[in-house]
Amino acid sequence: MTTALPLARTNAEARLFLRLRPCAACGARRCEFRSSVIAADGPASRYAGQCESCGAHREYVFRLPEQILPPPAGRVRFGGAQASQLLDPGEWLHYSRICADQAGPGDDAQSAAARHALATALAAVEEVVKFIPDSASAVPAAAFFADAGQAIFAAEPGSFDRDRLEAVRTHYSEQLARR
Ligand SMILES: [Zn+2]
Repeated sequence: MTTALPLARTNAEARLFLRLRPCAACGARRCEFRSSVIAADGPASRYAGQCESCGAHREYVFRLPEQILPPPAGRVRFGGAQASQLLDPGEWLHYSRICADQAGPGDDAQSAAARHALATALAAVEEVVKFIPDSASAVPAAAFFADAGQAIFAAEPGSFDRDRLEAVRTHYSEQLARR
């Protein structure tokens, strides 16, 4: 029936993908998706909804992992060691920055929401690193498969160097430890 469905490693990853993808008909993003587990050559999950802007039916089907990864306590996890098949490294880096901005500088009394935003920023930057092959020192150009991600890579290729990414990761991780 279907060939090579993209893998959604966690529900968090599937939900983020759905939030970032616009409606093909009108470009709007607002859509409430309902999920159901279906059988499609193995376990899969189907997310369907109606675009809140133009009413178009939207539907995505993802393959589910053999083993469901529970999120670690107080942290956010989008997947295991394997790189994402849904969002490319540029999209992950962009999302990571949005979350870090939402978390704020960390001087004031911290809300749970701000801490969660920082934990999400950390998890998202870790996703970027997963695209770097063991022997490489940066995310290879071929890893970018989304227009939005490719645009970020073209604008600032140096942001995808392993050293730079590790520095960002360490920064978020230290900030998180203080909260
Ligand atoms: Zn629409």
